[in-house]
Amino acid sequence: MDCLFCKISEGSIPSQKVFENERLLAFKDIQPAAPVHILIIPKKHIASMNDVQEEDLSLIAEMHRVAQDIAKDMGIFESGYRLINNCGPDSGQAVHHLHYHVLGGAKLGALTG
Ligand code: C5P
Repeated sequence: MDCLFCKISEGSIPSQKVFENERLLAFKDIQPAAPVHILIIPKKHIASMNDVQEEDLSLIAEMHRVAQDIAKDMGIFESGYRLINNCGPDSGQAVHHLHYHVLGGAKLGALTG
């Protein structure tokens, strides 16, 4: 499958990893939109939030748990952070492999819609 984040998770495309276990990988976004900008992905290919199945729910919960740990590791747990998923064309989802953005390290702008 020609999926950029599958290649990053397999290691055939390098990334700056901040966390990895059997199911998940987290790495620094190559175009950071905030002082801290980490992406959390499942190693399993799931194209978007719309493709999450019942059997994936524990994985989604674990992604949230890992987001907490990353916020602690990055020193933004207390100051605050945003956990964002883009799903589908109107959201601007560019990579069709489920991912959460963890953003923080500065006052973030208001969400627009
Ligand atoms: O949510 P969306 O699909 O728009 O986000 C994709 C993110 O993946 C972007 O923030 C982009 O900078 C990041 N990216 C990356 N490494 C790549 C390609 C894209 O961190 N090799």
